[in-house]
Amino acid sequence: MAEILKGVHMADTYSNTFLLLDQRLILIDTGTADAGPRVLDYLKNIRMKPSDLGTIFVTHTHPDHVGGLAAIKAAAPGAKVAAHRIEADFISKKKTYTGPPGAARQTHPGTPVDILLEDGRVQDGLRVIFTPGHTTGSISLLDGTRSLLLAGDAVNNESGLRPMDDRYNVDPKQHRESIKKLAAFTFENLVMGHGSPILGSASKRVQELASGL
Ligand SMILES: [Zn+2]
Repeated sequence: MAEILKGVHMADTYSNTFLLLDQRLILIDTGTADAGPRVLDYLKNIRMKPSDLGTIFVTHTHPDHVGGLAAIKAAAPGAKVAAHRIEADFISKKKTYTGPPGAARQTHPGTPVDILLEDGRVQDGLRVIFTPGHTTGSISLLDGTRSLLLAGDAVNNESGLRPMDDRYNVDPKQHRESIKKLAAFTFENLVMGHGSPILGSASKRVQELASGL
């Protein structure tokens, strides 16, 4: 885990998770189950405690984004879990996952969602942008103070900026519509669940991608 922008820390586990640190401490996504303890360890490195965690956002319910949630929530019982209302049911139910490929089959014990998000809502200074298609309730989050879009799996940057592989999108057409929706926003920096951050002129890159879809 490392600081990629002032107050923005990224852990590249199987999928990326992010800590935002200013007056509050916010976690965006929780990685696979084994990422939970790693995120908690990292808090020590930046002289924070689990009890400093205010809100844990889950961009969507895939196991590589929600897998670490139970362990983190157990260590930080005061932290509020926030997700789109469509994803909340899945997050709170016990579920066994297979895939995506490379990720071990895992059981997600189910964690209640405290804050039900909707498009346009501002929560902890982050604007919720509803970006369905990868899953039915996927969200992206816009941090205006850092000109940073946290896109979850709305885009992928593992080998160039592009949509997620359609094998993992519930609705590939809607996934592309969501990328076009993101292209209407202006932001310098972009981070996502899979692939490297784009630091500088990021919304131009998303516009280029969207115009080719
Ligand atoms: Zn995903």
